[in-house]
Amino acid sequence: MHAEIIAVGSELLLGQIVNTNARFLSRTFADMGINVFYHTVVGDNAGRLKAAIEIAENRADMIIFTGGLGPTKDDLTKETIAAHLQRPLVTDERAMESIEAYFKRVGRTMSENNRKQALVIEGSEVLPNDHGMAPGMIFSTENHIYMLFPGPPKEMEPMFLTYARPNIMNKLQVQEKIISRVLRFFGIGESQLETEIDDLIDAQTNPTIAPLAGDGEVTLRITAKHQSEAAAAQLIDDTEKLILDRVGEYFYGYDETSLMSELARLLKEKKLTIAAAESLTGGMFEKELTSIPGAGSLLMGGVVCYHPQVKQNVLHVKEETIAHHGVVSTECAAELAENVASLMNADIGISFTGVAGPDELEGKPAGTVFIGIKVKDRPVQVEELKLAGNRTSIRIRTVQHGCNFLLK
Ligand code: ATP
Ligand code: MG
Repeated sequence: MHAEIIAVGSELLLGQIVNTNARFLSRTFADMGINVFYHTVVGDNAGRLKAAIEIAENRADMIIFTGGLGPTKDDLTKETIAAHLQRPLVTDERAMESIEAYFKRVGRTMSENNRKQALVIEGSEVLPNDHGMAPGMIFSTENHIYMLFPGPPKEMEPMFLTYARPNIMNKLQVQEKIISRVLRFFGIGESQLETEIDDLIDAQTNPTIAPLAGDGEVTLRITAKHQSEAAAAQLIDDTEKLILDRVGEYFYGYDETSLMSELARLLKEKKLTIAAAESLTGGMFEKELTSIPGAGSLLMGGVVCYHPQVKQNVLHVKEETIAHHGVVSTECAAELAENVASLMNADIGISFTGVAGPDELEGKPAGTVFIGIKVKDRPVQVEELKLAGNRTSIRIRTVQHGCNFLLK
């Protein structure tokens, strides 16, 4: 079963609105296990719409239209489809009643062209519009399934989920359960990850594995179909194991999580508190940690120790450390982490010092970063990073690496 989505509306072609309907429908179809092969956008023009329909009929089994179901002259989707398939338009009494009821409710008089909105293509199943007036439609011919939806997303999306999706699933007798799981990785690039599991991606049809690069991280979505949900989950488990055998060292979490959420979860689980000494990150680590609900019991506090004097006077980094090694150094990061932990009476101290750029500092290039970690009585550890990118991304990556370092 291949689907094509045809979005109708000159505003789309003029760049006045973004085709979010196609995005929503494609995502939803993907979750339903139906392949969308084409997106088409066509203006409010009967001739060009007819041409688009003919092309779609040659390459898709299911054709989904959005837009152009309204009362005005430029709304001509159903008229064009009806003429093309030589099916009449008939008044749907239920839709008519709900349009009349709508006008009564808002206290406006109904204009004649609103009756047009109750017209449906003969033989279609009518999809009620709970958030507007124009109903949707589904009907089949020998070779195709056609679906028509109103343009406004706040009408189309609930109509699709409430009325169209169950109808389509029944039609296709898709009793298969489709489930997916997202694996999140940090510290490995998208191309390296893909190279490591290339053969797995190529060999799999069920489950499928889809890589996606995010902000500093990479994710893999594993999707499986099976009659039984437990069996689908088992298929996903098996594939996950194959993947983690190869790249498990970079894996940090499932689905909608983040490095900071995982860190917060870990600290909570181990009942540990943390304090931060932030130089180049200027408080970003703490800002992110405090944006997670419940962070109050985890974060003791911190110091934005941007200036060397603050490192020295507030966090007691030794004068000779700064004189001999500079502030961008293993030694400085180590003292910052140790001292912030004791100053704030926290179980863990983390420090960030480095060069955010664009200029170099102490002869070290932008992207040179030291992260210090002091956990309870254990010796302090320092990780040195050489990050690429601009000032903003160096700072973001630094915080991500700090979380990742603590998760290890
Ligand atoms: P109405 O009854 O509101 O006229 P309609 O079914 O005739 O609905 P259109 O006139 O084509 O739909 O579009 C109405 C509005 O819906 C647009 O102004 C736009 O805001 C939104 N819309 C239409 N198509 C899309 C789309 N593909 N993606 C996102 N929004 C859309
Ligand atoms: Mg309209």
